[in-house]
This record gives sequence, C-alpha cells and structure tokens, in this order.
Amino acid sequence: MMACVSRPMSVVPVLLPTNTASVAAPGRVIFVGAGPGDPGLLTVRAVECLRRADVIVHDVLVPAAVLDAAGTRAERMPVPRSPHGDEDPGIAVGRLLADLARHHGVVVRLKGGDPTVFARLAEEQEPLRAAGIAWEIVPGVTAALAAAAAAGIPLTSRAAASSVTFLTGHEAYDKESLLDFAALARLPGTLVVYMGVEQVSHWSRSLMAAGKCGDTTVAVVSRCSWPEQRTCITTLARLGAELDRCRWTAPAIVIVGDVVGQQSVDAPASGGVLAGRTILVTRPAGQGADLAALVAAHGGSTVHVPVIRIGPPDSWEPLDQAIDTADTYDWIVFASANGVRAWCERLRHTGRDIRQLGTARIAAIGPATAREAAEHGIRCDLVPDDHHSEGIVATLGREARRGRFLLVRANRGRDTMRHGLEAFGHQVTEVAAYASHAAESVDAETLATLAERVDWITVTSSFIAASAGRLFGDHLQTWKVASISPVTTAALLAVGVTPTVEAERPTSDGLVTAITRWEAAHHDLAHTAGSAKSTRMANAPTTDRVDSGPAARR
Ligand code: SAH
Repeated sequence: MMACVSRPMSVVPVLLPTNTASVAAPGRVIFVGAGPGDPGLLTVRAVECLRRADVIVHDVLVPAAVLDAAGTRAERMPVPRSPHGDEDPGIAVGRLLADLARHHGVVVRLKGGDPTVFARLAEEQEPLRAAGIAWEIVPGVTAALAAAAAAGIPLTSRAAASSVTFLTGHEAYDKESLLDFAALARLPGTLVVYMGVEQVSHWSRSLMAAGKCGDTTVAVVSRCSWPEQRTCITTLARLGAELDRCRWTAPAIVIVGDVVGQQSVDAPASGGVLAGRTILVTRPAGQGADLAALVAAHGGSTVHVPVIRIGPPDSWEPLDQAIDTADTYDWIVFASANGVRAWCERLRHTGRDIRQLGTARIAAIGPATAREAAEHGIRCDLVPDDHHSEGIVATLGREARRGRFLLVRANRGRDTMRHGLEAFGHQVTEVAAYASHAAESVDAETLATLAERVDWITVTSSFIAASAGRLFGDHLQTWKVASISPVTTAALLAVGVTPTVEAERPTSDGLVTAITRWEAAHHDLAHTAGSAKSTRMANAPTTDRVDSGPAARR
C-alpha cells in the first residue's frame, strides 16, 4: 500500500472575481496569460484586456511583439525578475499592483505563458487581498502546451501516457527539495520540466537515481514560438551533454517520456505548393495572422518578425480636434486598418463613440480597412476597386460638390490622396491617428536563424521596405522578396532590392497568390536541383507580376 504523505502548505483563500464580464470597472487587476511569445498565441480575451487596460505591468521577458498587441492606450511598466531588497519578489509586485489599481483603474498583470503556472501568482495576490482589490485571471497558453504543439508531441496517449506532470527544474540547492523524485520516476506518464536548463544535471540525475530509465526519450524545445525556436530529441542520460553541446538558450521546456517517441516532427510534409517553405512576415505585431493563415493553407510556415511598430501619434491634440469636428466633414477617409483602430481607440478613451461621426460618409482605402471598420461597428460607404490612394482620388475626386474631406492616416506616408483631392477643388484635412516607428535592431541569434530558415520575405508597405532594408541588409539579396504593391516595389528598389514578385492586388491574398504562382511555376526547376535552399535565386533582375486570379478572395 502506498503511504500518503501530505506536505505543509499555506492555504490561500480564493477571492471570486466580482465581475468577469466587464474589464472597464475601475480599481481591479487582471492577471493575463501572454502565452509563450508569439502574439498569435494570445487569447482573444487577453487582447481585449490589453487594449482596454490603463496600465500593463509585464515581465521583462514578455516580447515586444506581444506588448504591441495592446495598441497604444495603456502605460507599460516592466518588472524585473528579481527586484532588489529582501522582500519576496511576488509580494513586491503584488504591492505595486494594489497601488496602481487604487490610482489608475484597470491594471493588467501580463505574465508569460499562463498566470497560474510557475508564476508566483499566490504571492502577487496576497497584497491585493489585503487591500480588498478585486482580481480575475485570463488563462494563457502555457509553455508545456506550446512546446508539445511545436514538436508535434502528444502529451498524453492511450498507449504511452495517461497523466502529465509539470515540474520545476529550478530549485534552490540550499532548501530541501519539494520534488519527490522517487514518485516522479515511478509515474508512468509524461513529465514536463520548466526552468530545466540551468540545473539539468541535478534533476536529470536525481530522476535516474530514483529509478527512471536513462534511455527514456526526451524532447527539448527552446524559445518556443519565437523566430529562433529549436527542437531536439535525445535521451534522459544524454540530455545534460546535449544541452551543453548545443548551447541551448533559455527559455526552454523539456518533455520526458515515451510520448516523445511518438513525436511527429518528421511527419510527412503537408501538401500544398508552399510545403517546406518558410515565409517571413514583417508586419507590426498582432497583424500577421491573416498572412500566416493564407500561407498555412498552402502548406507553408511563417515566422513573424515585426520590422515596424505602431505607437501613439506625436501629439493627441490634432486627433482629438479631428474627432471633435468629425461631423462637419462630408467624407472621412481611413487610409489603413491601423488608422481605424487608432481612431476608435481614441474615441473610446475620450469617452465617446461612433455617433461622433455624425452624417459624414466613410471611405476605406481597401477591404482590410473596411473589415476593421466593420469590427468597430462602422459600415463604409465606399471602398474603391483600386485599393490605393489613387483609387480614392479617382472615385471621390469627381464628386460634383466641393467637399470637406478628413483623411485619417499615419504620421508618415505619401501625400497623393491629399494632393489628388485638392486638385479637384476639395478641401482636405489630414490627421495622424498613429505613428509608425522602425524596429531598431534584430538580435544576432534571430538573424542567424532567419538566414537559415527563410525562403521568402513579405514586404507590405514602403516604410516596411525601408526598415527591412536596414535590418536585414544582404539577406534581402538571397531571400525571395514579395512586394504588395508598385509603391512598395519602388521603396524596395530604393534600398537596392528587386522584388521577385509583386502582388496584383495590394492585399494579403494578392501577396500570397503571387508567391504561390511563382513557386508553382518554378517547382520543376527546384525539384530537379534537389533542395529549396540550393535553388533559391538571387533576386531576379526583373519582377514577375502575378495576377490574383479569379480564385482570390477580396
Ligand atoms: N507561466 C509560464 C512559466 C514561467 S516559468 C508558463 O505558463 O509558461 C519560466 C519557464 O517557462 C522557462 O524557464 C521555460 O521553462 C518555460 N518557458 C516560458 N516560455 C517559454 C518558451 N517560449 N519556450 C520554451 N520554454 C518557455
């Protein structure tokens, strides 16, 4: 009979959330799971909370790409992993949260992965309880689940594992271990080790000493869902040497158990013309999902490295004034989906809503902008067939009446729309609803991984072209380059890059169609030469222009 040992533990009373339906009530803290790093793995609820937060208190390790999904409204406050002083770091953060909630309203505490897994949640809650501040928890994709998905490993299986255990591989040497290695070694299920890299020899040897077989298969997934994600399969006995040899970089997850033998990293490649191809998406954080889905539908994979970042405009004053006077315009023209989002966020933040638009008619430059408007409850009166500034000018310029136009746009870009409409005698006001900034750098490790993996880079605006030119340099001469429009092509040419293809329609669909057609046309050539990498062309001297074709969605 097994002895049942109970360990002393502190009992944490649970304060039920007072109102989980609203994130707008003041003086509350929302613990939000940020997932493993890819903004695409944030939950819808997490994004909603981030966008409505007044302050976001986040771990320093939460990637910028995830924070950018928050939009421009909230103040951001990083917390160091180990604050100075004797106080428990969790309690110190909890005090900060209590203080912020009292003075600033909705505080989002953004934590990597899931807030309830190895995240000092109980400690951070303690000062909130003492101060009577309400909190709720929004779960996130914990690293174990993301790593299993990345490596294609089922964590449970009817044949090999009926249980999964999450454990920490990082225990202070100077305290008695809370891990019962004998029980863990006996367990027939899967073990998932968090924080397991630094003390790998300690926990792996302890497991083997307690009877776990050294031949047990093990998978390591480092930097899961980051551009430089790596996976390796080995055995428990060889794990320490393997981690040393490959100089694995934290954070990493180790999955131990027979399920690893069932991993499907080498599963037959999915069908589709982009099978085996990796496409680099360079759009701002939180805006890569549609391209990723289209690429995946053709069997390819994407890696998202935002080369520009969307931030608040230099001053709110012109935007606030434009919002105040919105109903005095005949037309309000949104030049991008980001413009719609920034406008609507500002409306909400200043306590107003879409009634502020009054009788003004609304135009969107293209379908993605119109879709974004629709999501905010605004139906566009006009989306030109030609999704460029020129399309708006051609369609609205000839309006018989001289009109008053408000153009909602970025802080930078072309003046074509204003000049074109003014040439027809209209009165045009432009307002910057947001600012785009170039990413400052890409770290060397990410760059090395991209150099190894990327087949295509997608370039979706002239500002992205300029930023990508600066960040990726000579790589742009070896990757195939897909440009979204003639204006973007001109910007690429200006940085010395001739795109391989240019989309006929400036949409994600048009872009992916251009890539798939190029791949289909060059498939035989690539096949003959053996590998995608060895057949990758330097940028062609001329640009293939590819039609979206009748199958393209708008
Ligand atoms: N609350 C987090 C865990 C925090 S503990 C969660 O639910 O995921 C920190 C450990 O999580 C790291 O040492 C590593 O083991 C794991 N981890 C977090 N993000 C990771 C990632 N992107 N890839 C691999 N492991 C990760």
